[in-house]
Amino acid sequence: MRLTIDRDRLLSEIDALASFSDAEAPAVTRIVFTPTDLKARAWLKARCEEAGLTVRQDAVGNTFARWNGSDPAAPVVGTGSHIDAIPNAGKYDGVVGVLGGLEAIRGLRQSGFRPRHSIELLIFTSEEPTRFGIGCLGSRLLSGTLSPDAAGKLTDDDGATLDQVRRGAGFCVELEQVKLPSGYYAAFVELHIEQGPLLERQQIPLGIVTKIAAPASLRVLIEGSGGHAGGVLMPDRHDALCAAADLILEVESAARASGASDTVATVGICEVFPGAVNSIPSRVRLSIDIRDTDLQRRDIVVRTIEVTCHSISAKRQLSIHSELLNADAPADCAPAIIEALSHSCRKHQLNFLPMVSRAYHDSLFIARIAPVAMLFIPCRNGYSHRPDEYAAPEGIVRGTLVLAETLAALSK
Ligand SMILES: [Zn+2]
Repeated sequence: MRLTIDRDRLLSEIDALASFSDAEAPAVTRIVFTPTDLKARAWLKARCEEAGLTVRQDAVGNTFARWNGSDPAAPVVGTGSHIDAIPNAGKYDGVVGVLGGLEAIRGLRQSGFRPRHSIELLIFTSEEPTRFGIGCLGSRLLSGTLSPDAAGKLTDDDGATLDQVRRGAGFCVELEQVKLPSGYYAAFVELHIEQGPLLERQQIPLGIVTKIAAPASLRVLIEGSGGHAGGVLMPDRHDALCAAADLILEVESAARASGASDTVATVGICEVFPGAVNSIPSRVRLSIDIRDTDLQRRDIVVRTIEVTCHSISAKRQLSIHSELLNADAPADCAPAIIEALSHSCRKHQLNFLPMVSRAYHDSLFIARIAPVAMLFIPCRNGYSHRPDEYAAPEGIVRGTLVLAETLAALSK
């Protein structure tokens, strides 16, 4: 098998996809089911069909592009990622796994390789939580992690439900049909930029993911009492922001107390009401993200934060309500896929780093129904979700080559 990756075609397609954007270049904004997203999907579908793949879309817009194997009944070998981009993002997150996956399949087809298992490129809908508040929407539905009923009722900022929005975008069959049958996949491999600095810092060309950390998120509402910043004296105050400050520091120490470097916790949103310089904050809303590769350790942090909410509420005499929005389980990657990836790296004398994916990916959910693994390529300074996100062409090509060989090994 003489496998070549068409570097120019792949890079020009990454640029072409970036041109479907609601932000000015180099920023990319592509929110699920906006006109821009639908145009990008149509463009991508045309590229898949041009490559000789059979395209199908499910009720939530997950898009499958299939190369039939010689044994069509054998479980599928899958690859893919997402093309939605948060506001003011870059052009590589997700896209490298989608267009790299497509290029890997084209390269294999051109090499004369014939798979026994069918190989499918999967473009997940709404990996980013931007529009409906929940990440990995498509893969949660595919894996049965989110019920079709609950998904359909999710709303965007304009109050439109997912059901209304997806139907408006032309995806009209029932959401019940999205979940994949058990045993659908023999294996699933996702190529992705690292979104962290480790590969670049250590000058290692590739990362093979052995575990995917999983987040839990809490939304906390603190209600104290407001009043005039001059009129209410300190002993009489129930300042919601001061309670929030206590809680934020406790979140930090709860994560530190776990003692494991894989435990991280972040308060990323703090909304203060009424938000006036001469008014005591009466209400604060916090969003807390807690991640780990170990479920038990992560849940200890979650419980510590919940207990802390009670104690701060008692101490400061105000109300603190915490709600656990999601608590997904971390995933271990499949040894057989890790071995196939490693084998290809060794063949090309490419050094690789076994690593943990600390960001959230669709593969986390596909891991519930299939053996998965991920392949990371370096990105400059570890930057992601910003316009200056960058992955070098040679890194993209290397990742695509190793992905292609791995798909070939798994689909024999
Ligand atoms: Zn991504």
